[in-house]
Amino acid sequence: MQGAAAVSARALRKVYGSGGAEVEALRGVTVDIEPRRMTAIMGPSGSGKSTLMHLLAGLDTPTSGQVLYDDLDITRLDDRRLTALRRQEVGFVFQAFNLVPTLTVLENVLLPFELGGTKPSREHHAWILERAVDLGIGRLLDRRPHQLSGGQQQRVAILRALAIRPRLIFADEPTGNLDSRSGREVLTLLERATREHDQAVVLVTHDPGAAAHADRVLFISDGAVVHDVGRTDASTLSEMVLALAAAR
Ligand code: ADP
Ligand code: MG
Repeated sequence: MQGAAAVSARALRKVYGSGGAEVEALRGVTVDIEPRRMTAIMGPSGSGKSTLMHLLAGLDTPTSGQVLYDDLDITRLDDRRLTALRRQEVGFVFQAFNLVPTLTVLENVLLPFELGGTKPSREHHAWILERAVDLGIGRLLDRRPHQLSGGQQQRVAILRALAIRPRLIFADEPTGNLDSRSGREVLTLLERATREHDQAVVLVTHDPGAAAHADRVLFISDGAVVHDVGRTDASTLSEMVLALAAAR
């Protein structure tokens, strides 16, 4: 059933460049990303992880294939409608936080509304403040990003991604800049987003310890999904990463 997935890829192909310099970054990927679950994407550098994430998030368009949000194929939307869909349905957490230095924490969190020309309702605003308390940044809302630690900045980025209550949260190496304790906390918060707020999290990571938090792990190699496993411990995932690297 189409509506069961948070987002679906159908025969997704992406070729960069043209003429003699073509790179086939994705070679026909078909996958359903499930709601209320965290899906990790692992694979060697250059295997197509970021390309897949960007296509699923509507940040780039495929050479062929479909990206389905329910029955809507977003690869057919014009830029204006695609931007509107991203603002409503998708939250992002990047390694570099992408917080605006001149804005306060709360202004950063509310930025997706500002960009979309909307305001949260009174209840929605209260919900955001409750989540800020949950995330341990309830007392930091008037500060500026440079007054926060790396772990606190990443929590702000997570709250910003949660704020619009998107169906999907994409996190590309979200723990890459954090010490191991802050990294674990961030992963726990993303896990809670899936359980408590009905969101699907797609986590791109090199780190088997991070991927071990996921309900499902997709391995990508040379532009194709080569393994699709359920929750797996970090040492088994490490072995799978090594085996993939050796097989190339
Ligand atoms: P990963 O995130 O797994 O490291 P990417 O999706 O970034 O892999 O890249 C997959 C392949 O596509 C690589 O060979 C990469 O060099 C190539 N690639 C990615 N982005 C571009 C681009 N904008 N132009 C040309 N080639 C690209
Ligand atoms: Mg990448």
